[in-house]
Amino acid sequence: MSGTLLRIEHLKKEYPGATPLRDVNLVVNEGEVIAIIGPSGTGKSTLLRQINQLERATAGKIFFREEDITAPGYRVHVLRQKIGMIFQSFNLFSHLTVIENIMAAPVALLGLSRQEAGDRAKEMLAKVGLAEKALSYPDELSGGQQQRIAIVRALAMAPEIMLFDEPTSALDPTMVGEVEAVIRRVAEAGVTMMIVTHDMAFARRISSRVLYMDEGVVYEDGPAEQIFERPQREKTRQFIRRLKVLTISVDSRTFDFIGCHTEIEAFGRKNGVPPEVVRALMLLFEELVTQLLLPRLPEPPRIDWSMEYDPSEESARVSVRYNGGPFDVMESGEELSLAIVRGCAEDIRYAAEDGDLANRLSLTVKRHRV
Ligand code: ADP
Ligand code: MG
Repeated sequence: MSGTLLRIEHLKKEYPGATPLRDVNLVVNEGEVIAIIGPSGTGKSTLLRQINQLERATAGKIFFREEDITAPGYRVHVLRQKIGMIFQSFNLFSHLTVIENIMAAPVALLGLSRQEAGDRAKEMLAKVGLAEKALSYPDELSGGQQQRIAIVRALAMAPEIMLFDEPTSALDPTMVGEVEAVIRRVAEAGVTMMIVTHDMAFARRISSRVLYMDEGVVYEDGPAEQIFERPQREKTRQFIRRLKVLTISVDSRTFDFIGCHTEIEAFGRKNGVPPEVVRALMLLFEELVTQLLLPRLPEPPRIDWSMEYDPSEESARVSVRYNGGPFDVMESGEELSLAIVRGCAEDIRYAAEDGDLANRLSLTVKRHRV
C-alpha cells in the first residue's frame, strides 16, 4: 500500500482560449483514494484526461510507476489497460450483453479464455448485486445499474488506478446511493482512485485526501477533515462556505413550492445534513413561508430564506427576511403552525432592521432536537 503510482510535474494544458492547467504538481501513492473538487471549469476533467493520455500536454511530465508516459513514442494503449476510467454517462457497448461487455477487454487484451473471463465476470456481477442481469442488454437497465456495470467492466481489467469523472451526476437522485456504495466497496478493497465529484458528502465519506483545484493549480491538498472543516487558503474557504449556504427567494404567492422543497433536499444531500434535520427544515419552510408569512405580507410579498449548515454542530442556522412594516411573525397567527415552528427550532429571534426586507427572523435546527 505504499510506493508512488503517479507523479505529475509542472503539467500545463492550454486550449485555444483557456488554460485550465497552468502548473500542476502532484504525487499519488498506491492505495490512496483522492477526491478532486473545485468550481466548474477549473480543469478537473482535463487533469483526468491527461493522466490516461486522452490528450497531449502542452508542457510538463507525468510519470506512471516512474515511467514517463508523456515521452514521445510511449505506448499509450499499454497505459490505458492499467487505468480504469468512468465517465458521467455510462458508455457500455449497446450491442453487447452485460456479460459480454465485461468479458470483451480481458479476452482481447489480457488473453483470458472466454470461460475464465465469463466466470470472473459472473463473480464480479454478483458482488454488485447484478448477477441476474448478465444476459440483459444495457438499454434494459436503469442508469444506476448501467453505471455499476461500467465500474465492473473497468475493474475486470484489474487496473492499477481508477479515475472517476462525476460518476453519479447524470443519475436520477434515487440511484446515486447504489453507485456510491459500489465505488466505496472498490475503495475499501484498496484500489487507488481519483474521483472528481460535486457531492461533498460523498467526497468526504470516501476519500483519504482531497484536492481543491483552482487557478490552474492544485490550490489546496489535504485530508478531507482539513479541506471541509479548516481550509487553509482563501479560495478553498470561499468555495466550502458557498456550498454550505442555500438561499431561496420568494416573491409571489404562487411560487414554486415543490421546487423549493427539492432544493432544500438537494442541499441536504450535498452537504451530508442528517435526514431528520432536512425534514425539519422543509417543515419550517412550509410553516413559516406558506402558512405564517405569505397570507400576511403586503403585495407583492418578498421573502428571502437563507440557511447555512454547520457539520461540526450538526446544526442548521436559518435566517428569514421579509418585507412589510415591523412585524414579528412568531407573535401571532395560526396556533398549530407556531407550535410546529417552536417544536423544530431553538434560539428563535426576531429583529427589525433597515432596508426593504426590514424584518428578520433567525433560528437554529439541531439534530438532537428533532
Ligand atoms: P472541470 O472539469 O473542472 O469543470 P474542464 O477540465 O472540463 O473543467 O475544463 C476546463 C476549461 O478548459 C474550461 O474552460 C473548458 O471550456 C476548457 N476546455 C476543456 N476541454 C476543451 C477542449 N477540448 N477544447 C477547448 N477548451 C476546452
Ligand atoms: Mg468536468
